[in-house]
Amino acid sequence: MKYSLKLFTVFGIPIELHISFLILMLLIYAVAALNLFPGINLLMAVLITLVFVTVVIHELSHSYVAQRYGVKIERIILLPIGGVSAMEEIPKDPGQEFRIAIAGPATNFVIAGICYVLVFLGASYLSKDISAAVYYFALINLILGGFNLLPAFPMDGGRVLRAYLAGRMSYVKATRLAANIGKQLAIIMAILGIFYNIFLVLIAIFIYIGAEQEYRSIMVSTLLEGVLVGDIMTPEVETVHPETTAQEVLNLMFQKKHMGYPVMEDETLVGILTFHDISEIPPNMRNSPVKTYMTESIISTHPEEPVVDALEKLNRKQIGRLPVLSEGVLVGIISKTDIVRAIEIMNLKIGE
Ligand code: ZN
Repeated sequence: MKYSLKLFTVFGIPIELHISFLILMLLIYAVAALNLFPGINLLMAVLITLVFVTVVIHELSHSYVAQRYGVKIERIILLPIGGVSAMEEIPKDPGQEFRIAIAGPATNFVIAGICYVLVFLGASYLSKDISAAVYYFALINLILGGFNLLPAFPMDGGRVLRAYLAGRMSYVKATRLAANIGKQLAIIMAILGIFYNIFLVLIAIFIYIGAEQEYRSIMVSTLLEGVLVGDIMTPEVETVHPETTAQEVLNLMFQKKHMGYPVMEDETLVGILTFHDISEIPPNMRNSPVKTYMTESIISTHPEEPVVDALEKLNRKQIGRLPVLSEGVLVGIISKTDIVRAIEIMNLKIGE
């Protein structure tokens, strides 16, 4: 992820700190150091560190269980609103999703329980400061675990709820119902927040957006299930030669309304040229051949690849189209527009 620093690695998973989290921490440290609130310097520092540790443990619990189901974990990123585990798509198996989702809050509750027992048993041995720190650690774990059990995406409770519903209806319906419950919860939270605590309104907005995103992404991957690149690609591809001038390609774009062209030399794909590449050429250089400006490292797909995976490639690399190769031969091209159109048609077919 952009703007994040890698801290360390646990279970082979890199733990990263997002810059906004860092700024927030520095800000709180600065407030404490400048003695704006006398007497709470140490407490602040301890609390921040404990929140940080708690969030890492929480995310690691999810990742640990997910890894056992064969899900690859790329990294854990810490944001001011909590941690995010960047992992491959979680299996659409309600039982597995339930266990992955519940692992985080469950670990927090277990830690809180152990801490309370420690404080209770060690009351006469532990120093006052250590007792207080352990007590706060327990409290933070309780709050984090509890908050994450709210039945709304992107909280763990939303996933637990969907897993429960998915045992009783289709995955898409379960996601839609869970997302709607989350949105209603967000609206109630926002109304309460206006009267009691403005911070609740922020959380409500975050939940509302999260619910909508989760529903959309599930809709897309479900609608595109079983659809292959070969089914929706454009088979007759307009191509250009490395020696074609940029001006000629520009004219072609104007006529054909395609914004990207594979560059072919003797039946071999040697590059791809997009409108973006041409727009970066100074107007007086437009008579030079496109081979100087084309992108040579080509990201391609093949006719048997699922469209969902091709879409993932397009989004990850932030590109608009992929050439489709079959045994090294260019057989078509697939663009984001093709995929969006396919989604719209599939949506109509299902009649949702
Ligand atoms: Zn969680």
